[in-house]
Amino acid sequence: DAPVLRKPSWIRVRIPSDGAVAKLKAKLRENRLVTVCEEASCPNIHECFGHGTATFMILGEVCTRRCSFCDVAHGRPKPPDASEPLSLAHTVADMGLKYVVVTSVDRDDLRDGGAQHFVDCIGAIREHSPGTRIEILTPDFRGKGRMDRALEILAVNPPDVFNHNIETVPELYSNVRPGADYQWSLTLLQRFKAQHPGLPTKSGIMLGLGEEMEQVKATLRDLRAHDVDMVTIGQYLQPTAHHHPVMRYWTPEEFKELESYGMQLGFSHVASGPLVRSSYHADQQAAQAAAH
Ligand code: SF4
Ligand code: SF4
Repeated sequence: DAPVLRKPSWIRVRIPSDGAVAKLKAKLRENRLVTVCEEASCPNIHECFGHGTATFMILGEVCTRRCSFCDVAHGRPKPPDASEPLSLAHTVADMGLKYVVVTSVDRDDLRDGGAQHFVDCIGAIREHSPGTRIEILTPDFRGKGRMDRALEILAVNPPDVFNHNIETVPELYSNVRPGADYQWSLTLLQRFKAQHPGLPTKSGIMLGLGEEMEQVKATLRDLRAHDVDMVTIGQYLQPTAHHHPVMRYWTPEEFKELESYGMQLGFSHVASGPLVRSSYHADQQAAQAAAH
């Protein structure tokens, strides 16, 4: 049976109310855009919005997959909205964002997995906010020919940082990420890097789904072996009672241990801590990677 664990003190966060965030939220509503920051009630929203960073979700809010940790709705998504790249670009410009992360649900219904829409968004943001750096956090583009097509499309206007989350250790894939394939995700990261040796690649792992320390270290070694530059490691929090239970809260000391381990492996940046999210301090990570 699923354990119900009490949240340790380092997980509870105070959300201060503040006018700047309210203003940004109003702007997002006006342009009908969705941020992961709000949807996932991310504990870092004030810090990120305050720094000029946000994570946008494109290609709709309905996913073709069912991961046991994820709070996104499942079903048949709508066709990509052709006006989205421009409204995203306007919002990024309006909000004066310096660093944006663009992500999407998994679109197994599209031949290119949504790659063209990602590139259209990158192009539109660059046109309206030339100084803004863009990280894309993509699905795995799994399926016959889909990775080839996606990589070809992305090469036309690549992002500043390419991020794809491995999410968990391979031992837990069938339970946590059905529909995904561990090696496929590693291959995607490696192939992007091979195509764009000058662009940093990045991946992320969630802890608390039942994995062991040694398995996490092995996953970090696998990511390095596939030329991934940066990694984020954070605590999984259960979005609702219907999602995968939190099996364990990893301690701040364990997160520290993984950070040192990752740095020893040669990652240019390791963000590891209970509240770390895939896009947490993304701007600073990318700056360090560039300086690396
Ligand atoms: Fe948004 Fe990511 Fe920052 Fe959370 S960590 S507020 S999801 S940019
Ligand atoms: Fe959620 Fe991504 Fe899994 Fe879809 S593929 S259910 S958006 S984690």
